[in-house]
Amino acid sequence: MSKVIDGKAVAAAVLEECRSEVAEMRSNGITPGLAVVLVGSDPASQVYVGSKARTCEDLGIYSRKIELPEETTQEELIKVVEELNADSAIHGILVQSPPPKHIDEEAVIRTIDPRKDVDGFHPENVAKLALEDSSGFVPCTPAGCMRLLKEADVETKGANAVVIGRSMIVGKPMALLLMAKGSDATVTVAHSRSRDLPGICRQADIVIAAVGRPEMVTADWVKDGAVVIDVGINRVDDATKKRGYRLTGDVAYEEVAAKCAAITPVPGGVGPMTIAMLMKNTLKAAKQLSS
Ligand code: NDP
Repeated sequence: MSKVIDGKAVAAAVLEECRSEVAEMRSNGITPGLAVVLVGSDPASQVYVGSKARTCEDLGIYSRKIELPEETTQEELIKVVEELNADSAIHGILVQSPPPKHIDEEAVIRTIDPRKDVDGFHPENVAKLALEDSSGFVPCTPAGCMRLLKEADVETKGANAVVIGRSMIVGKPMALLLMAKGSDATVTVAHSRSRDLPGICRQADIVIAAVGRPEMVTADWVKDGAVVIDVGINRVDDATKKRGYRLTGDVAYEEVAAKCAAITPVPGGVGPMTIAMLMKNTLKAAKQLSS
């Protein structure tokens, strides 16, 4: 039976690190500040924004939640971002994804001051990640996955890592982090056009599943002793649950757990790490902007 990588516990430890850093910064007269902008009333986004704000408040980070109506124009949103760029109380800015369809998310991200881009989505930060320039911001979810691998003592050097998914939010940055000097994994990135995905996965010492397809990765895709990081968060109907659904990852947890060396559960794996790494990025932004 595999070792369960407890994302909740690791995230709690990261947040405690943040708490002491915030206390130290505040004693030096710097209060880190994070602004989260939400356009529209998507219920899942509201939950995410709420928990980001609560985590900030709990740690002593100044948090500003800006909720804009669904019909906000792109120009209006960009104006809000520009105001936040100029606001010295704000060190981190994020615009909750996905915005309403009439908004060009890329264009909005480009207007965020890259020094405040704590999501790490601005082209300047994407380039810094590729260049292995540590002054940039790494997207929170893959940064969280790297931290989980480290805390679970997983050797990445020379390991065959397969990342399933090539999004700018998870898959692509994850691959860059794994192949970076110091991590030194041999990385394969798979996607919806990959041939023989099960065969590719069977080569992997480390599997990172970031697809958005419930329980796609089954036991026969995973070699004995592999480490499996499940990024997926999928809602599947479940009449036995009061709310009518349950959350599941991209990995068929029970059967894969029975043969791999270590695995992250869903929920309680990568999910809690994302917010913890967001807090880390906010503190980094505050330090860099204040120095
Ligand atoms: P995207 O939809 O942006 O990307 C999904 C990727 O999976 C794409 O590259 C796509 O390929 C690939 N894919 C889709 N179907 C298949 C298939 N059948 N075989 C192989 N590859 C496939 O999703 P995200 O990267 O944003 O998110 C992925 C998952 O992670 C989702 O479940 C999401 O909810 C979750 N997530 C969790 C977070 C957390 O905090 N734990 C944070 C962010 C995301 P192609 O490029 O060819 O279309």
